[in-house]
Amino acid sequence: MTALIDVLRQAVGAAHVLTEPADVEPFAHDWRRRYQGRPLAVVRPADTAQVAAVVRACAEAGVAMVPQGGNTGLCGGATPDASVSQVVISLGRLNRIRAIDTDNDTITVEAGCVLATVQAAARAANRLFPLSLASEGSCVVGGNLSTNAGGTGVLRYGNTRELTLGLEVVLPSGEVLDMLRGLRKDNTGYDLKHLFIGAEGTLGLITAAVMKLYPAPTAAGTALVACDTPRQAVALLGLARRHGGARLTAFELFSSLCLELVLKHYPACVPPFATPGAPASGHVASGHRDASGERGGAGKRDARALASLHPQYVLLEFSDAGAPADLAALTESLLGEALEAGLIRDAVIASSSAQRDALWALRENVSEAQALEGRNIKHDVSVPTSAIAEFIETTDALLEAAFPGARRVTFGHLGDGNLHYNLAAPIGVDPLVFEAQLDAVNELVHDSVARFRGSISAEHGIGQLKRDELTRYKSAIELALMRAVKDAIDPRGLMNPGKVLGAPSSP
Ligand SMILES: Cc1cc2nc3c(=O)[nH]c(=O)nc-3n(C[C@H](O)[C@H](O)[C@H](O)COP(=O)(O)OP(=O)(O)OC[C@H]3O[C@@H](n4cnc5c(N)ncnc54)[C@H](O)[C@@H]3O)c2cc1C
Repeated sequence: MTALIDVLRQAVGAAHVLTEPADVEPFAHDWRRRYQGRPLAVVRPADTAQVAAVVRACAEAGVAMVPQGGNTGLCGGATPDASVSQVVISLGRLNRIRAIDTDNDTITVEAGCVLATVQAAARAANRLFPLSLASEGSCVVGGNLSTNAGGTGVLRYGNTRELTLGLEVVLPSGEVLDMLRGLRKDNTGYDLKHLFIGAEGTLGLITAAVMKLYPAPTAAGTALVACDTPRQAVALLGLARRHGGARLTAFELFSSLCLELVLKHYPACVPPFATPGAPASGHVASGHRDASGERGGAGKRDARALASLHPQYVLLEFSDAGAPADLAALTESLLGEALEAGLIRDAVIASSSAQRDALWALRENVSEAQALEGRNIKHDVSVPTSAIAEFIETTDALLEAAFPGARRVTFGHLGDGNLHYNLAAPIGVDPLVFEAQLDAVNELVHDSVARFRGSISAEHGIGQLKRDELTRYKSAIELALMRAVKDAIDPRGLMNPGKVLGAPSSP
């Protein structure tokens, strides 16, 4: 392998071929540290030509390649195995914004551009790049494309696939496939870019993309709403769509336990309502409370208040390029009607951007708060929005019967039918003991998802984590077609082996 390392050094410069254990360590494990690998080397090319040279060298040596972006993926897709035989190709140095075309409303970016940088570049051009995830300060566009990332803007703008017009890809042979077109209409046969989006690096390396831009919103109407059940939240979603049409940008659900964990682990976050657990107050309050826990007043967080939170919360947002007053009126009229219809218990509308941020913090910190609480069992699932309430009711009941006391930390992008249906150990049970039941819990939850014709991976992908689960829930014919695509593009199986699909059944 020394010969390969020499060729790689010639291709990208010796400083960008890492082989020392301490240097490769940050690239050798996933974000959650669930998977630990040992790469032969980590190579950091700076442009498409260097990526192609690296891939050609690895292909000639018959060495497997593992593409890596920001390494924030949650399924172990970017982690090499422990055989010291795989080369990690890290795209972080391909970080140029190649062009912004405001007439065409497109931005052409390299795969290693950090998502937040792309958002900022769009903002500077008075446009919106709507992909938004909690990991946006670290994840990069190539990773977003390869996982078809979702996030909080999907309801209005779609996921990464829907934001993509063109791609540049280095194939497993080292050839460059230039599909870097900024066209909204192009019916010239198979649209090959879609094969690489969501492929988790198993078909080639994405080096650049043409992405859609949108008008920058000038106004937002943001509200946190308390209700009793997911069923009411789904009814509220329908009402919000009827009121706001395409202006409905986000519709996020989280349970009282989620809020309880956020308030416990993030002391700067404050309970959103003055009278937690109270019945419908008959009015919609404007203005989120300050860090003292009172609307403009002083006081300490009351532990009893935390215990009497509302059962469910919805964070909803309208946004538009219109006047702020219009969206405020829209939000108030929606919530007024929802209160009258008995769909919600209480609501608070943000009246400043600081208050908007404070409301969003309650939702965005759920995932981290759950991690701080201890290890847990996660499910990133989707079912049709119309089935989401029944899915939660049915699966909650099945779980309670099979694993009594397991705490359900359920939250997600309700508007997209996407739930993070997560489970924490029953109170008093060691999380590691609970985690030992992982396979049985997964089977129960994913079988339930399948009965609702849902997906076992709504936005995080398959990677290594769900590779075996995939064979259980995809039909034989879908798996065979996926395998045929893989074999056609990567016949030697050198591109991210062991991810998404297992080893071929016959040599
Ligand atoms: C706190 C937190 C919140 C998150 N929230 C969300 C969320 O709301 N929605 C969501 O969808 N995800 C979310 N994620 C998951 C993760 O951030 C996304 O999957 C993200 O798109 C991964 O980007 P990355 O650059 O980190 O990719 P990596 O983790 O580096 O790679 C992910 C996969 O893509 C492949 N890959 C990377 N770059 C390339 C390339 N250039 N060409 C080919 N293949 C490549 C890798 O081999 C791997 O299989 C979250 C993660 C964290 C840690």
